[in-house]
Amino acid sequence: MSGNIRTWFRQLNERQQKRTLKVNYSAEEHICDCCGTSFCGNFCPQCGKKSTFTRMNLKHAATECLNFLGYDTRSVPYTAKELFWRPGYMMRDYLSGYSQFYYSPFNMLVITTLFFVVACWLRGLHVDTEPQFLYGDFFVRYNAPEWMVTLFAKVDDVLRWLHQSPAWSAILFGIFYIIASYLVFRKRMNFVEIFISQVFIFSQMQIIGTVYALLTGSEVYYNMPPFAVPIPLGIAFLCYDYMQLFQLGFWASLWRTILSFVVGYLLILLFMATPMLIVKYTELL
Ligand SMILES: [Zn+2]
Repeated sequence: MSGNIRTWFRQLNERQQKRTLKVNYSAEEHICDCCGTSFCGNFCPQCGKKSTFTRMNLKHAATECLNFLGYDTRSVPYTAKELFWRPGYMMRDYLSGYSQFYYSPFNMLVITTLFFVVACWLRGLHVDTEPQFLYGDFFVRYNAPEWMVTLFAKVDDVLRWLHQSPAWSAILFGIFYIIASYLVFRKRMNFVEIFISQVFIFSQMQIIGTVYALLTGSEVYYNMPPFAVPIPLGIAFLCYDYMQLFQLGFWASLWRTILSFVVGYLLILLFMATPMLIVKYTELL
């Protein structure tokens, strides 16, 4: 029985490793009416004009409108599907030069964040709790200079706003998680590679957050900072991503996932606490 399950998992994994995008190659010879080059294929190798170009019609108009979603080859729905079907393998593909099939990770993050914002708005998502971290009257109590008191009162306003806006706070605090995952995985990839794959992972998390917000309408922020998703879902998906991305076994991936989450959370706390520590210790001097 367990042998069958293992075989099934192995076969599933083999299927996930295969790239899924099929390009319909046009074998016919074309002469580009733009630059005169003769070529075989879907695009002119010199100027990039499509060999199947016809007169402008409604389909063109629709494509132009949806172009910001990359409706040619690098489509958002395709990239989103890959982010769930074979996330880690897809990131490996992207990093090893197969980037033309996928929507750019940074644009993907912006679009998934916008979807998340709209989902929260549609569900009238209202966060009732207070943020976990606020400076409050700390700087008044420690006789900090006036400008600091004013500045951190403003910071508290921003923190309250972010608490009400899970989609944006995930992006803002994301940088701490990226540093944490670099500390955990630096032997396997360089910083830029980790950064780019993390931007894909954040897009994946924003999609999970969107679906979660749409289905439940309940607050998601601070369940698993910096990600605006519930902890069990977040850990499960990160573990799955890292198994494929770094070719790790389940347990090897799980403990690194938990470690990177804890380190990321500590980095956020350390960053937020630094001004408090400075004020406290300069007062003691
Ligand atoms: Zn041409």
